[in-house]
Amino acid sequence: MGLTFRSASGRAIRGYAFASVFLFRITQQKHCFAPLLSLSLNLFKGKSYLLNLEQELQVVHAEYENNYQALMELELAIEAEANELTKTLKSLQAERAKIAYASGAMMWPVSADWTRISSDFGYRIHPVLGTQSFHGGIDIPAPNGSPIYAANSGVVIFAGYKGSYGNAVIIDHGGGIATLYAHSSKLYVNTGQEVARGDTVALIGSTGRSTGNHLHFEVRENGERVDPKKYLYKQ
Ligand SMILES: [Zn+2]
Repeated sequence: MGLTFRSASGRAIRGYAFASVFLFRITQQKHCFAPLLSLSLNLFKGKSYLLNLEQELQVVHAEYENNYQALMELELAIEAEANELTKTLKSLQAERAKIAYASGAMMWPVSADWTRISSDFGYRIHPVLGTQSFHGGIDIPAPNGSPIYAANSGVVIFAGYKGSYGNAVIIDHGGGIATLYAHSSKLYVNTGQEVARGDTVALIGSTGRSTGNHLHFEVRENGERVDPKKYLYKQ
Protein backbone atom coordinates (compact mmCIF):
# COMPACT_ATOMS: atom_id res chain seq x y z
CA MET A 1 0.00 0.00 0.00
CA GLY A 2 2.87 2.34 0.98
CA LEU A 3 4.58 1.75 -2.37
CA THR A 4 1.42 2.52 -4.35
CA PHE A 5 0.97 5.74 -2.45
CA ARG A 6 4.60 6.71 -3.01
CA SER A 7 4.47 6.27 -6.75
CA ALA A 8 1.13 8.11 -6.85
CA SER A 9 2.62 10.98 -4.85
CA GLY A 10 5.69 10.93 -7.14
CA ARG A 11 3.42 11.43 -10.16
CA ALA A 12 1.57 14.20 -8.36
CA ILE A 13 4.84 15.96 -7.50
CA ARG A 14 5.96 15.85 -11.15
CA GLY A 15 2.52 17.11 -12.19
CA TYR A 16 2.67 20.00 -9.74
CA ALA A 17 6.19 20.94 -10.82
CA PHE A 18 5.24 20.94 -14.49
CA ALA A 19 2.00 22.88 -13.98
CA SER A 20 3.60 25.52 -11.73
CA VAL A 21 6.52 26.20 -14.12
CA PHE A 22 4.09 26.33 -17.06
CA LEU A 23 1.80 28.83 -15.31
CA PHE A 24 4.72 30.93 -14.10
CA ARG A 25 5.92 31.29 -17.74
CA ILE A 26 2.47 32.43 -18.83
CA THR A 27 2.42 35.13 -16.12
CA GLN A 28 5.78 36.43 -17.44
CA GLN A 29 4.71 36.45 -21.11
CA LYS A 30 1.34 38.12 -20.58
CA HIS A 31 2.90 40.67 -18.20
CA CYS A 32 1.75 39.78 -14.76
CA PHE A 33 -1.63 38.21 -14.39
CA ALA A 34 -1.93 38.42 -10.62
CA PRO A 35 -4.40 35.54 -10.23
CA LEU A 36 -2.21 33.25 -12.34
CA LEU A 37 0.86 34.25 -10.36
CA SER A 38 -0.83 33.41 -7.07
CA LEU A 39 -2.06 30.14 -8.52
CA SER A 40 1.45 29.21 -9.57
CA LEU A 41 2.74 30.13 -6.10
CA ASN A 42 0.08 27.91 -4.54
CA LEU A 43 1.14 25.10 -6.82
CA PHE A 44 4.72 25.58 -5.62
CA LYS A 45 3.47 25.30 -2.03
CA GLY A 46 1.53 22.15 -2.92
CA LYS A 47 4.66 20.66 -4.42
CA SER A 48 6.81 21.30 -1.34
CA TYR A 49 4.01 19.97 0.88
CA LEU A 50 4.00 16.74 -1.11
CA LEU A 51 7.80 16.56 -1.00
CA ASN A 52 7.69 16.86 2.79
CA LEU A 53 5.01 14.18 2.91
CA GLU A 54 7.15 11.95 0.73
CA GLN A 55 10.15 12.41 3.06
CA GLU A 56 8.04 11.70 6.15
CA LEU A 57 6.68 8.60 4.50
CA GLN A 58 10.20 7.39 3.77
CA VAL A 59 11.15 7.86 7.44
CA VAL A 60 8.03 6.00 8.63
CA HIS A 61 8.72 3.23 6.14
CA ALA A 62 12.33 2.85 7.36
CA GLU A 63 11.18 2.80 11.00
CA TYR A 64 8.59 0.16 10.19
CA GLU A 65 11.26 -1.98 8.51
CA ASN A 66 13.58 -1.64 11.52
CA ASN A 67 10.80 -2.48 13.97
CA TYR A 68 9.73 -5.47 11.94
CA GLN A 69 13.32 -6.68 11.78
CA ALA A 70 13.63 -6.36 15.58
CA LEU A 71 10.35 -8.20 16.04
CA MET A 72 11.49 -11.04 13.78
CA GLU A 73 14.70 -11.41 15.81
CA LEU A 74 12.64 -11.56 19.01
CA GLU A 75 10.40 -14.20 17.46
CA LEU A 76 13.40 -16.35 16.53
CA ALA A 77 14.84 -16.13 20.05
CA ILE A 78 11.49 -17.07 21.58
CA GLU A 79 11.18 -19.92 19.11
CA ALA A 80 14.47 -21.44 20.30
CA GLU A 81 13.30 -21.11 23.91
CA ALA A 82 9.92 -22.63 23.09
CA ASN A 83 11.41 -25.70 21.45
CA GLU A 84 13.73 -26.22 24.39
CA LEU A 85 10.69 -26.08 26.67
CA THR A 86 8.87 -28.77 24.67
CA LYS A 87 11.46 -31.33 25.81
CA THR A 88 11.41 -30.13 29.43
CA LEU A 89 7.62 -30.17 29.60
CA LYS A 90 7.36 -33.71 28.30
CA SER A 91 9.33 -34.94 31.32
CA LEU A 92 7.75 -32.46 33.76
CA GLN A 93 4.22 -33.47 32.77
CA ALA A 94 4.81 -37.20 32.45
CA GLU A 95 3.63 -37.85 36.00
CA ARG A 96 0.41 -35.86 35.73
CA ALA A 97 -0.43 -36.90 32.16
CA LYS A 98 -2.44 -39.82 33.57
CA ILE A 99 -4.76 -37.42 35.41
CA ALA A 100 -7.74 -36.35 33.29
CA TYR A 101 -7.77 -32.83 31.86
CA ALA A 102 -9.58 -30.28 34.03
CA SER A 103 -12.96 -30.04 32.29
CA GLY A 104 -14.54 -27.13 30.42
CA ALA A 105 -13.38 -24.31 28.19
CA MET A 106 -10.39 -22.30 29.28
CA MET A 107 -11.05 -18.87 30.65
CA TRP A 108 -9.71 -15.72 28.90
CA PRO A 109 -6.46 -15.23 30.88
CA VAL A 110 -6.78 -11.46 31.41
CA SER A 111 -9.62 -9.07 32.24
CA ALA A 112 -12.45 -8.86 29.69
CA ASP A 113 -11.32 -5.24 29.15
CA TRP A 114 -8.42 -6.60 27.10
CA THR A 115 -9.67 -8.86 24.35
CA ARG A 116 -7.54 -7.77 21.41
CA ILE A 117 -5.02 -10.30 20.05
CA SER A 118 -2.07 -8.32 18.68
CA SER A 119 -0.32 -11.39 17.33
CA ASP A 120 -2.17 -14.59 16.58
CA PHE A 121 -1.01 -18.21 16.65
CA GLY A 122 0.61 -19.54 13.49
CA TYR A 123 2.98 -18.67 10.66
CA ARG A 124 3.63 -15.12 9.65
CA ILE A 125 5.21 -13.93 6.42
CA HIS A 126 7.26 -10.74 6.23
CA PRO A 127 5.39 -8.51 3.73
CA VAL A 128 8.60 -7.36 1.99
CA LEU A 129 11.31 -9.94 2.70
CA GLY A 130 8.95 -12.90 2.37
CA THR A 131 10.63 -14.71 5.29
CA GLN A 132 8.50 -16.91 7.52
CA SER A 133 8.36 -17.13 11.30
CA PHE A 134 6.22 -19.13 13.69
CA HIS A 135 4.35 -17.66 16.65
CA GLY A 136 3.43 -20.41 19.09
CA GLY A 137 0.94 -18.51 21.21
CA ILE A 138 -1.35 -15.49 21.21
CA ASP A 139 -0.27 -12.01 22.36
CA ILE A 140 -2.79 -10.02 24.38
CA PRO A 141 -1.73 -6.40 25.06
CA ALA A 142 -2.79 -5.07 28.48
CA PRO A 143 -1.45 -2.40 30.87
CA ASN A 144 1.49 -3.21 33.12
CA GLY A 145 0.28 -4.68 36.43
CA SER A 146 -3.03 -6.05 35.13
CA PRO A 147 -3.82 -9.48 36.62
CA ILE A 148 -3.16 -12.67 34.64
CA TYR A 149 -5.64 -15.45 35.48
CA ALA A 150 -5.18 -19.22 35.46
CA ALA A 151 -7.14 -20.31 32.37
CA ASN A 152 -8.16 -23.50 34.17
CA SER A 153 -7.42 -25.27 37.43
CA GLY A 154 -4.25 -27.31 37.83
CA VAL A 155 -0.79 -27.41 39.35
CA VAL A 156 1.99 -24.87 38.73
CA ILE A 157 4.88 -26.81 37.22
CA PHE A 158 7.06 -23.77 36.58
CA ALA A 159 7.17 -20.27 38.05
CA GLY A 160 10.30 -18.21 37.47
CA TYR A 161 12.48 -16.47 34.93
CA LYS A 162 12.84 -18.29 31.65
CA GLY A 163 15.09 -16.49 29.12
CA SER A 164 13.12 -14.94 26.24
CA TYR A 165 9.83 -15.63 28.04
CA GLY A 166 10.91 -13.43 30.96
CA ASN A 167 8.96 -14.14 34.17
CA ALA A 168 6.74 -17.04 33.28
CA VAL A 169 4.22 -19.43 34.81
CA ILE A 170 3.35 -22.86 33.44
CA ILE A 171 0.28 -24.68 34.75
CA ASP A 172 -0.40 -28.36 34.15
CA HIS A 173 -4.13 -29.06 33.79
CA GLY A 174 -3.92 -32.87 33.57
CA GLY A 175 -4.21 -34.99 30.45
CA GLY A 176 -0.90 -33.60 29.14
CA ILE A 177 -2.44 -30.13 28.72
CA ALA A 178 -0.50 -27.11 30.00
CA THR A 179 -0.83 -23.33 29.72
CA LEU A 180 2.04 -20.85 29.70
CA TYR A 181 1.94 -17.16 30.67
CA ALA A 182 5.00 -15.09 29.66
CA HIS A 183 6.62 -11.61 30.02
CA SER A 184 5.05 -11.05 33.47
CA SER A 185 6.18 -8.16 35.72
CA LYS A 186 5.42 -10.11 38.92
CA LEU A 187 4.73 -13.74 39.77
CA TYR A 188 2.07 -14.65 42.35
CA VAL A 189 2.57 -18.42 42.50
CA ASN A 190 5.29 -20.94 43.20
CA THR A 191 6.21 -24.20 41.54
CA GLY A 192 4.14 -27.07 42.98
CA GLN A 193 1.24 -24.86 44.02
CA GLU A 194 -2.35 -25.85 43.16
CA VAL A 195 -4.40 -23.17 41.43
CA ALA A 196 -8.10 -22.82 40.63
CA ARG A 197 -9.55 -21.48 37.39
CA GLY A 198 -9.48 -17.65 37.59
CA ASP A 199 -6.81 -17.35 40.30
CA THR A 200 -4.35 -14.49 39.71
CA VAL A 201 -1.05 -16.17 38.91
CA ALA A 202 0.99 -13.17 37.75
CA LEU A 203 0.82 -9.55 36.56
CA ILE A 204 1.18 -8.22 33.01
CA GLY A 205 4.64 -6.92 32.13
CA SER A 206 7.28 -6.82 29.42
CA THR A 207 10.11 -8.99 30.81
CA GLY A 208 12.30 -11.20 28.64
CA ARG A 209 12.30 -10.59 24.91
CA SER A 210 9.27 -8.36 24.59
CA THR A 211 8.41 -5.16 22.74
CA GLY A 212 5.77 -3.90 25.18
CA ASN A 213 3.35 -4.84 27.96
CA HIS A 214 1.44 -7.94 26.92
CA LEU A 215 0.65 -11.52 27.82
CA HIS A 216 2.12 -14.18 25.57
CA PHE A 217 -0.26 -17.10 26.20
CA GLU A 218 0.46 -20.65 25.03
CA VAL A 219 -1.45 -23.90 25.27
CA ARG A 220 0.60 -27.08 25.02
CA GLU A 221 -0.55 -30.63 24.37
CA ASN A 222 2.16 -33.04 25.59
CA GLY A 223 4.68 -30.22 25.28
CA GLU A 224 3.72 -29.18 21.74
CA ARG A 225 2.14 -25.78 21.14
CA VAL A 226 -1.39 -25.71 19.77
CA ASP A 227 -3.73 -22.86 18.91
CA PRO A 228 -5.03 -21.54 22.27
CA LYS A 229 -8.32 -20.54 20.63
CA LYS A 230 -9.16 -24.25 20.40
CA TYR A 231 -9.38 -24.35 24.21
CA LEU A 232 -10.52 -20.79 24.88
CA TYR A 233 -13.65 -21.02 22.79
CA LYS A 234 -14.49 -24.72 23.32
CA GLN A 235 -17.75 -25.19 25.26
ZN1 LIG B 1 3.95 -13.85 21.66
